[in-house]
Amino acid sequence: MLKSKYKVIIIGAGPAGLAAALKLKKLGISDILVVERFTFPRYKCCAGYVTAKTGDEYKKLGLDIEECNYSLIKDFNIFYKNKNRLNIVNKFLYTNRTIDRVELDNAFFGLAKSNGIEVAEGVKITAHSPENNAVKFSDGATVAYDYLIFADGTTGFGSRYQKSGKRNIALQLVFESDIPESIQIHFGVTRRGYGWVSSYNGITNVGLTDVYGKRTDYNRVFEGFLKQLNISADISGLKGAFTPMTVGKPVIFGNVFFVGDAVGACDPMTLSGLRYGLKSGELCAEAIALGNLKIYKKYVKGLKNRFAFMWVMQSVFYFAPVLCFGFNVFCRLFGKTVAKIFNNFFVNKK
Ligand SMILES: Cc1cc2nc3c(=O)[nH]c(=O)nc-3n(C[C@H](O)[C@H](O)[C@H](O)COP(=O)(O)OP(=O)(O)OC[C@H]3O[C@@H](n4cnc5c(N)ncnc54)[C@H](O)[C@@H]3O)c2cc1C
Repeated sequence: MLKSKYKVIIIGAGPAGLAAALKLKKLGISDILVVERFTFPRYKCCAGYVTAKTGDEYKKLGLDIEECNYSLIKDFNIFYKNKNRLNIVNKFLYTNRTIDRVELDNAFFGLAKSNGIEVAEGVKITAHSPENNAVKFSDGATVAYDYLIFADGTTGFGSRYQKSGKRNIALQLVFESDIPESIQIHFGVTRRGYGWVSSYNGITNVGLTDVYGKRTDYNRVFEGFLKQLNISADISGLKGAFTPMTVGKPVIFGNVFFVGDAVGACDPMTLSGLRYGLKSGELCAEAIALGNLKIYKKYVKGLKNRFAFMWVMQSVFYFAPVLCFGFNVFCRLFGKTVAKIFNNFFVNKK
């Protein structure tokens, strides 16, 4: 039974929402309600890679990713136009044995519950009244708050308060296979994105990303990618989701916050979002607990600059002649440098 008022209500029990809840609890605020439309364990469309820095962020919050069957990936093979161009020894990227996020998200959810955080599962927010500091839920309850945090992803209820900007689309298909353990990153599959094939422990995850274009039939692009890879798989299980490309407003009405994908805390080029989701949740909690909104606003402003740079990089990198030169000439001549940049800039910095 929900109370009629909570100090903090958090919409969404993804990494960002739960990080905010756990940090609030650590800072002495326990009158928290987290509302999640699904019940756990819940599926989230995600390749499930975790960088070393993301792992550190989880550890700070009390979760050891190695206990969720995460281990370091051996290496990456980089493909351009379906030709293997480079092998890179991996140093900083981890994956789960089932190559998705279910186990990690479920363990994080368990951690929140064991810390006494109240979560209403299978409940959606359906209305918000900022004048009354109240939200209405799908079970009919109307509940008041002092602070509200939207942690409900790119297309959740909170997205109505943010400017709709460009978004990345990502599609993925996970299936059982006997493809040997390997990670392939493919360029030249979509106009402004990449594809991946990850095989691990008898499971393969094939996916692709692109800057979303209304006129593109992504199912067909995906089928073309599978054909190019010579993989025949039933695509009825194909899943897709958007990731944000614009950093939005961190706070509105003075007491309504946005964290994780809901504020655009996801790298627009690599789609790495877990670390930023966790950190944004933590800092939002700190801002609330210390009554200092600047802490959070400053972090989001920093993300805005960082991601604007990644956006420019993305435009340059995917310019066809640059891609062609990069893979046909640069990779061949300066393979070691490319590997260093990949490991240090695109993986370890995320
Ligand atoms: C295909 C794909 C692959 C990706 N791969 C990676 C990767 O390998 N590594 C990485 O770091 N990042 C990756 N990302 C990005 C990453 O998944 C996100 O950045 C991250 O999940 C953001 O966390 P979040 O908590 O903000 O949102 P979410 O994880 O989306 O959680 C939001 C939660 O809110 C709930 N919700 C939504 N609406 C409502 C509502 N109305 N009422 C109640 N609850 C609601 C949802 O059910 C969900 O549980 C990938 C994304 C995609 C789409």
